[in-house]
Amino acid sequence: MDSSPAPQTKPLVVITGASSGIGEACARSFSAAGHPLLLVARRLDRLQALNLPENVICAQVDVTDRAKLKETIEQAVQKYGPVDCLVNNAGVMLLGKVQTQEPEEWQRMFDVNLMGVLNGTHAVLPSMIERRGGTIINISSIAGRKTLPDHAVYCSTKFAVHAFTEQIREEVAQYDVRLVNIAPGVVETELLSHSTDKKIVDDYKAWKSNMGQPMASEDIARCIMFAYEQPQRMCVREILVCPTRQDK
Ligand code: NDP
Repeated sequence: MDSSPAPQTKPLVVITGASSGIGEACARSFSAAGHPLLLVARRLDRLQALNLPENVICAQVDVTDRAKLKETIEQAVQKYGPVDCLVNNAGVMLLGKVQTQEPEEWQRMFDVNLMGVLNGTHAVLPSMIERRGGTIINISSIAGRKTLPDHAVYCSTKFAVHAFTEQIREEVAQYDVRLVNIAPGVVETELLSHSTDKKIVDDYKAWKSNMGQPMASEDIARCIMFAYEQPQRMCVREILVCPTRQDK
């Protein structure tokens, strides 16, 4: 009986910010669908604790480190072949009033939410263009479509992700490369826990509790899988989803 391993049939998927929340749910979904994965985050222990199969690489990388992100993706490509899908999910939301918030918090949001998306895109897009195929899924937000109180800088980063995604899509459409924007409303994750302004956090929690049930990370993972699993001839340009009771 032939004991050689079954040939790998599904292509490589890279997910940034896979150590919690939406990225974690997305990693589980792509893994269940049989894809080899490269999972990226700063908390390596959390990536490893997902306990996914052997064809999953966990890498401790900060998405703001462009060189390391590129090098890590290249190593995964050596092992599993070209990246067919990049999910640019890593993000931070540091709510605040611009007149009082520490500028370092603005910088961090731009570095992770926008530069991280650019860094990931830069690492995979040339090969996708050359191969004439591939999908880049950017996790933006409803905060990339409309402004919200205390979200001025966060919204600015997410509006930028929308602008970038729209324009790059036009530029690479001729190469059969898809760019997808996923724009969720409130999802129950660790995202809010990094904001430092107690009153703003409390107000947000009160708003969220009025909503009844916010969305779960798995809800967004389903949207991501839906967009990715369509035939390459069809590009789901954007999915905007919110809890039914979200009022803004
Ligand atoms: P979480 O805080 O649970 O997840 C954020 C992820 O990003 C973590 O895995 C974190 O990993 C990673 N991350 C943060 N900074 C970096 C960095 N510098 N380098 C690498 N990874 C990093 O929040 P969510 O799951 O909610 O957030 C995921 C995305 O969804 C974000 O882009 C967010 O803006 C977006 N979003 C979330 C919504 C919500 O209501 N939750 C609504 C709309 C959009 P680690 O700390 O280990 O590095």
